[in-house]
Amino acid sequence: MSSQQYKTLKGMQDILPPDIFLWQKVEQTARQIFSTYGFQEIRTPVMESTSVFSRSIGESTDIVEKEMYTFTDKGDRSVSLRPEGTASVVRSYVENHLDKLPAPQKFYYAGPMFRYERPQSGRFRQFYQIGVEAFADSSPRMDAEVIAMLERLLSGIGLEGVSFQINSIGCGQCRPGYRDALLSFFSEKKEDLCDDCKRRYDKNPLRILDCKASTCRQQRQGAPRITDHLCEGCRTHFEKLQTLLSLLQISYSLNPEMVRGLDYYTRTTFEVTSQSLGAQNAVAAGGRYDRLVKEFGGPETPAIGFALGMERVIELLKLTALRSAPSPSVFFAVLGDAAGSACLVLAEQLRKQGRWVEVGDAASSLKSQMRRADRMAVRHVFIMGDDELRSGMLKWKNLAGAAQGEVKLSDMELFLAGQS
Ligand code: ATP
Ligand code: MG
Repeated sequence: MSSQQYKTLKGMQDILPPDIFLWQKVEQTARQIFSTYGFQEIRTPVMESTSVFSRSIGESTDIVEKEMYTFTDKGDRSVSLRPEGTASVVRSYVENHLDKLPAPQKFYYAGPMFRYERPQSGRFRQFYQIGVEAFADSSPRMDAEVIAMLERLLSGIGLEGVSFQINSIGCGQCRPGYRDALLSFFSEKKEDLCDDCKRRYDKNPLRILDCKASTCRQQRQGAPRITDHLCEGCRTHFEKLQTLLSLLQISYSLNPEMVRGLDYYTRTTFEVTSQSLGAQNAVAAGGRYDRLVKEFGGPETPAIGFALGMERVIELLKLTALRSAPSPSVFFAVLGDAAGSACLVLAEQLRKQGRWVEVGDAASSLKSQMRRADRMAVRHVFIMGDDELRSGMLKWKNLAGAAQGEVKLSDMELFLAGQS
């Protein structure tokens, strides 16, 4: 039988050491910071009925039109891999009556998302997001808190050089008027828009504003700005948010052209970008979605959230962070079978205290065991042979600092505690 070499599917990748340590660091920091804001973890399935996504994200969005992994399952149901997290969390919120919990209800998630996109730098078919959703608080204070939490996370993991952009895209009251203003602005220029935007003109003209095509960039010069068309409620909400962000000393810029690729947003939208990322430069993005819970059949519930793209964050961290892979704190180099067994027992004791301990292979030479310890960047190497077993004194070496000495077997734990 000939053997076959398998490869990951296009746009999907394994995440391996040493990168995985950066992933873990980001995830741990996120959990820690989110908990100080009272956000709790929620885990939803990676697959849902297709309509959970198509109805909420919007039938005419790129995600639903082109990017969803949609299948018919064996029971003839149309199911899709989740392309983002919000729709599933809202489905769960309504299904589990989470509105009955004390308000505001605050959740976070972390996990893989799937979009059938053309793979390129910063864009994969399976990618990971960490996201948050806060329900039942319509105040701009919640917008400010969520944005502050994102800022804390990014600075907590050591990301520098990112910038916040915010916008308000209005609500059901003021957006129709703005939409009309846009339609009349683009009516003469429609033929000069890209093919996607020709379609967007009828279906979703706001999206022309963040089209990346150069012809559309040109055509939209001088277009009416959403922020000049906000109703009284949306305007004061947006102004208050800006005051609060200044109070929290979060720097941001206004970007009236940022409309985002999902239909469910209302009022506040925001995006974090990095200059160091090239074309796919958005690290995280989010906004308010005050109508979505109702659209899912739940009670009228305002909400706001964001999602952060892990691959792009890791890419940035790799540019700057010192890559410190964890290493064993203790390595026993063992000479002979009896020493090997004794160290196995010792290692168990030290591991119970949370130390990473490795035991060398008694069948190989001291030299090759030392080489292995060195490659693993071990802090302390202890040498154990028949003599040491008899005397109860161990020789130790600190590989990095070249210090060495002896320590009583019964004092090992004390010795290590003093060293770390
Ligand atoms: P993009 O600018 O890449 O098209 P988007 O508007 O589609 O982003 P959102 O749906 O708002 O992105 O998702 C939030 C974040 O998730 C993005 O800012 C990005 O960091 C990340 N992201 C989105 N799509 C992908 C992908 N295909 N591969 C990797 N990361 C992605
Ligand atoms: Mg996209």
